[in-house]
Amino acid sequence: MQPAEDSRYSRQILFTPIGPGGQDALGLARVAIVGLGALGTVLSTQLARAGVGYLRLIDRDIIEQSNLQRQTLYDEADARDALPKAAAARDKLLRANSSVKIDAVIADVTWRNAEELLGDVDVILDGTDNFQIRYLINDVAVKRRIAWAYGGAVSSYGTAAFLRPGETPCLVCLFGPDQGGGHDTCDTVGVIAPIVSVIASYQVAETQKYLTGHTERMAPGLLTVDVWNNEWRTIGFPPRDGDCPCCGLGRFSHLAARPDALAVSMCGRRTIQVKPEAPLQLSLPALARRLSAVGRVHSNAYLLRCDLGDAQISVFADGRALIHGVDDPAQARSLYARYVGM
Ligand SMILES: [Zn+2]
Repeated sequence: MQPAEDSRYSRQILFTPIGPGGQDALGLARVAIVGLGALGTVLSTQLARAGVGYLRLIDRDIIEQSNLQRQTLYDEADARDALPKAAAARDKLLRANSSVKIDAVIADVTWRNAEELLGDVDVILDGTDNFQIRYLINDVAVKRRIAWAYGGAVSSYGTAAFLRPGETPCLVCLFGPDQGGGHDTCDTVGVIAPIVSVIASYQVAETQKYLTGHTERMAPGLLTVDVWNNEWRTIGFPPRDGDCPCCGLGRFSHLAARPDALAVSMCGRRTIQVKPEAPLQLSLPALARRLSAVGRVHSNAYLLRCDLGDAQISVFADGRALIHGVDDPAQARSLYARYVGM
């Protein structure tokens, strides 16, 4: 280790359980973070500054004004420029620690790409807001025997658990095969920043224990916290379920091929994602010329955005689009067909 690096991590190395050996282990570690919103900005900040050698930041979304209250890596200029979260996060983190390697992946995680994006790391961190993607992460984690940290926060409460295939139950053992839908979301009840920091910090602490070989110190259960109502609890893990379809029987149903839904509604505001069944290779400059006849077009290196009056459309080069200001998936599909083409 170079002297400059010694000084960068000196306080962390002084912490005896990590020490120089633990620091070296962190430097060799590879971590994927799915979702660079509220949880993901805290997760990625702590891990990049701690010197985790390789980070893959995966997010499908772009930065908006309503993110700034809790997504601490981003600022007003990022929202104005409609930058993708993964790319903006990478650029800011490299300014904080240029000695780590960071890849930004601007994409939706689906059955098509989940194993490629998540299958070659030591730990996967959940910064998402939905169980559809968490079950996908769980399938990859169990199939490839990769540890992962589940985390979720909404309103003033949150839950987190660090899951190790073969050692702990998996997500399906904990919540059954179809958790999701019918829950509070950031969209319906809001969220305050402190619960996000608590949950993400817990995910990072467990990750640091795991990567530095201190599995004996890891929490043997599911953390639930409510920072407004002063509740902090760890619920012990149940025994692993030998009949669990995922970790018991090895059926990875979320990784199975299926027709892609054309429209997916998103958490947090009136935005619907529309994407073609297979990725396209669009010429964004050509599309920008075409759409400039319809409304004002703003482009950056990753996407173009066009004002359509009541709605706005942001289109990525692979044909994926975010339609803002729309609640109805059918209307989103129709705007997509009209302005991007299908
Ligand atoms: Zn299981």
